[in-house]
Amino acid sequence: MGKAHRRWLKAVKKWQTNCWLLDWTFSIETSRDKISDSQGSGGYDVAGKAEYTPGYHLATVTGWEEAIEDATDEKVNEIACHETCHVVQGRLDVFVGQLIQSLPASARQLADSQWDEVKESTISHWTRILTRMDRRGR
Ligand SMILES: [Zn+2]
Repeated sequence: MGKAHRRWLKAVKKWQTNCWLLDWTFSIETSRDKISDSQGSGGYDVAGKAEYTPGYHLATVTGWEEAIEDATDEKVNEIACHETCHVVQGRLDVFVGQLIQSLPASARQLADSQWDEVKESTISHWTRILTRMDRRGR
């Protein structure tokens, strides 16, 4: 297990606890390959991704090794918080994804990209709130 993996594991475990997700099964992984876009429910970012099945309380949270290796502790903490917030919001994401699928094909692409933007800006806002509270609590 490399250093990047250990840092990622520690940071995600912390946010799994902070976000009250201990009744979920988390697979915490790192990837040598850059995180790429994919279909399905999840949040895909430059440095990490979160995939989830809220009905079964299952999540896979993956960090991109190169981004984690070069990052400060504070940045790793922030990336882990961001991806874990995606899991918190997973139920909503699955629901909206189903609504989008029920739209006429011509409307899906726009709805998808708009939802992505709304989702990411909400998650980033929560990440700012939570990491700030975390720093203050130390
Ligand atoms: Zn994201």
